[in-house]
Amino acid sequence: MKYDLIVIGAGPAGMSAAIKAASYGAKVAVIDENPSAGGKLLGQLHKEPKSGWWHGRKIAREMETNLRQTGVTCFQGKEVWGIYPRWKVIMNNGEELQSENVLIASGATEKAIPVPGWTLPGAMAVGAAQTLTNYHRVKPGNKVAVIGVDPLSLSVAHQLKIAGVHVVGIFLPPNNEFSKDRSTPSQMISYLSSMAHAAPNIFLKFAGNMAKYPFVQQVGAKFYPRFGIIIWGTPFYLRKTVLEIGGAEQVEHIKVAPVSQEGIPNEDRVKTVDVDCVCISGGLYPLMELAGAAGCESVYIEELGGHIPLHSPEMETTQPGIFVAGNITGIESAKVAMEQGNLAGTVVAAKLGLFSYKLIEEAQKNVKEARENAVITFQQNIAKGREKSQQSWKEYDSKGVKLYADS
Ligand SMILES: Cc1cc2nc3c(=O)[nH]c(=O)nc-3n(C[C@H](O)[C@H](O)[C@H](O)COP(=O)(O)OP(=O)(O)OC[C@H]3O[C@@H](n4cnc5c(N)ncnc54)[C@H](O)[C@@H]3O)c2cc1C
Repeated sequence: MKYDLIVIGAGPAGMSAAIKAASYGAKVAVIDENPSAGGKLLGQLHKEPKSGWWHGRKIAREMETNLRQTGVTCFQGKEVWGIYPRWKVIMNNGEELQSENVLIASGATEKAIPVPGWTLPGAMAVGAAQTLTNYHRVKPGNKVAVIGVDPLSLSVAHQLKIAGVHVVGIFLPPNNEFSKDRSTPSQMISYLSSMAHAAPNIFLKFAGNMAKYPFVQQVGAKFYPRFGIIIWGTPFYLRKTVLEIGGAEQVEHIKVAPVSQEGIPNEDRVKTVDVDCVCISGGLYPLMELAGAAGCESVYIEELGGHIPLHSPEMETTQPGIFVAGNITGIESAKVAMEQGNLAGTVVAAKLGLFSYKLIEEAQKNVKEARENAVITFQQNIAKGREKSQQSWKEYDSKGVKLYADS
């Protein structure tokens, strides 16, 4: 079957692009491996300072209704296994769709930090705990420890608390080659600065804003209270690490030790804390295998979360007709992913001759605005990452011209 645009991934980026292009009259198909549309939106639940609760599941439902109303064909529960020139998209049931334009909006996935004992039943990635709690409405455990300090782990600890789970604390991961800076108090203090605007009280807002200065990171790590600071009713231990998860046949306890500023544990002061579930958070990275399979060139940008497909300001990759939007281009919040999707959908509709190219600039401005106003930032220096990404594109496209000049 032939379409004007095939979108892979029905997360906020993919759905926004499909709705936008279809609303201009394009014939669009969306493919997603899950039975319901929404992607990572489905598990999201957090409070925004100005607009109140962000209820991802509800937003996903509204967007899914919009998809159908704009006439988008949805292939749900189908995984894309390959993209072949120019362009055939193959699904796991052998079905094949064709289009000159394909948008890959495959999102992001979690990085693993190994912790001794993490194969015991009851130990899981923090994203799994988020899905269980907010989507399936099932408590992952009754007494839970969270390992790893980042916006996602703090937000999931809060969500667990709201669901009536006893969260014993948020701890640093053990010091190993996978955890690197994540196990060091002074480095983790700098993370507070990227979360300051979402902090639940004035003190943490102030501390978070100060934490961007290296001197404050050193001093803060030294004087951070060993008994932790309470955030949203949960102790946040920046000076304690989990050395091991233990239990006979499932998670029964964790072994916790205080750490030095540099993250070295004091093995003489190890304590056992009873828990029945452990959630591990190691950060997120863009899921870009499909772009690689389509022959798109990539670039590694630490500030964006890892390898991303090289792409133009119009979201087109080095393979003409293959576009990207959302977390595949770098880890950001759902609102940014939506605006990137709107931009990609606008560009494709313009390419199809459905309206003037002039609207592209407006869509680009909206992405910038969403980025500047983001309540949750997953990466510490996203602006720098975006600059690097643009620079890499300019170097690739040495003439520095737009693919679609204003008409
Ligand atoms: C575990 C986790 C938790 C998060 N929690 C939050 C949060 O609380 N708040 C927040 O603002 N952001 C959160 N994020 C960031 C989140 O990814 C963005 O907010 C937003 O959902 C990104 O949108 P997206 O459309 O790019 O990707 P996603 O929402 O991830 O959607 C991508 C979709 O593509 C599908 N897909 C991927 N590959 C294929 C394939 N080969 N075939 C078919 N379908 C495929 C996926 O199953 C998924 O449905 C989280 C991310 C992760 C990984």
